[in-house]
Amino acid sequence: MPKILVIPGDGIGTEVTEVSLSVLKTINEKNQVEFTFDTALLGGCCIDAHGIPVTEETLENARQSDAVLLGAVGGPKWENIEHHLKPERGLLELRKCLDAFANLRPAVVYSALADASTLKKEIVQGVDIMVVRELTGGIYFGHPRGTEQTDNGEGKRAFNTLTYSTSEIKRVARTAFEIARKRRNKVTSIDKSNVLESMVLWRDTVTELGKCEFPDVTLEHLYVDNAAMQLIRRPADFDVILAGNMFGDIISDEAAQLTGSLGMLPSASVGEKGAIYEPVHGSAPDIVGKGVANPIASILSMAMMLRYSFDMETAASSIEKAVEAVLNKSYRTSDIYEEGKTRVGTEEMGSLILNELRETSAAAE
Ligand code: NAD
Repeated sequence: MPKILVIPGDGIGTEVTEVSLSVLKTINEKNQVEFTFDTALLGGCCIDAHGIPVTEETLENARQSDAVLLGAVGGPKWENIEHHLKPERGLLELRKCLDAFANLRPAVVYSALADASTLKKEIVQGVDIMVVRELTGGIYFGHPRGTEQTDNGEGKRAFNTLTYSTSEIKRVARTAFEIARKRRNKVTSIDKSNVLESMVLWRDTVTELGKCEFPDVTLEHLYVDNAAMQLIRRPADFDVILAGNMFGDIISDEAAQLTGSLGMLPSASVGEKGAIYEPVHGSAPDIVGKGVANPIASILSMAMMLRYSFDMETAASSIEKAVEAVLNKSYRTSDIYEEGKTRVGTEEMGSLILNELRETSAAAE
C-alpha cells in the first residue's frame, strides 16, 4: 500500500494542504488506490512543539514513505530565532535526508490566465515548460569556498567552486530525459561550456547519455545567456529544460514569471530516497486565516506526485484538466482575480475543482 507523508507546515501551508488532500481522497476512491496517510510537523509548528524545526522521527518517517506532500513553512513568529533553528532548516534537512537531487518546476500558462503574464498573450499562449534543476551540487556546494584576507593590499578575496562529477550530471539528466518521455520528448540542456570546464563535462555527459539511453528524445543545448533570451522570445518552444543548480535557480524563476501568479506554481524535489511535492509559495503570513489562499499550486503539486511517484498519469491529468476547466469558467481566487470574474475563497476553489473531477468521471462512466 503506497504511503504518503503529509506535512502541512505553517501559515497557509495548512489551509492549502487540507484542500489538496480532499481532492486526493476523491482520486483515491475513484481509482480505488489504497493510499495510506501519515502526518508530521515541520517548520515553525515543530519548533513550538519540540524546540527544533524537524525531528529525527519525521525524517525517518519521510524515508519510509513513498512520497511527501508538503505545504509551506515559516512566518514572522520564528524570524528572529537562531539560524540553525529556523523553520526553513527543517525543509533543508528533509531534502537532504531524501537526497533530493532534482528540483522539478513546471511553468504552465493556462489560456484563461494568459492576460496575467507580463509578456504579450500571443507569446505566452500554450507555454508548458518543465524546468529540471540540479539541487545538491554545483557552485552552491562546491569546495574550496570562502573569504580570505589578501597580503597584496587588495583587501579581501572571496571564492566559490563550480564542480560537477559525471555521476551527478547523469542522474539529473536521466530524470530530465525520463520526464520528457512523459511529455513532448524534448530536452534543452543549459550550460556555459564555451567558458567553463565543468560545463564542458556537463554538455558531453548529457550528449552521451542522450545518445546511449534516450535516442528517441530530441536534445538541444543552449548557453545560459542565450537560453534566458529565448525563454522570453519563444517560450512555447521549450518542453523540458535541464540545468545545473545556479543556472536552474535563475531560469526556473524566469520561467515562473511567464505564468503570472505564485499561487499557481507547483514543484517537486526528487531524490534517491524519496520525493517531496510542494507549492513554490511560502506560508503567506499576510493572508493566513482569511480563507483566501489559492490552493491550486498545492493541488497541482499533488497531481505531480501522482504522475511522478505513482505513475498515475490519467489521474494526474484529470486533476490538471479540472483546474483548467474551473479557470475557464471564470472562477478566481484573489491573487489571480480580474474584473468581471467570480471571486472565490480557498475552500470554494477546492470544491469547484472536486465537482469538476466528479462530473468528468461521471461522464466517462
Ligand atoms: P510567500 O510566498 O509566502 O508570499 C509572497 C506573496 O504572495 C504574499 O503577498 C502572499 O500573500 C502571496 N501568496 C503566496 N502564496 C499564495 C497563495 N497560495 N495564494 C494567494 N496568495 C499567495 O513569500 P514571503 O512572504 O516572502 O514569505 C513568507 C514566509 O514563508 C517566510 O517565513 C518565508 O521564509 C517562508 N517561505 C517558505 C517557503 C517554503 O516553505 N517552501 C518558500 C518561500 C517562503
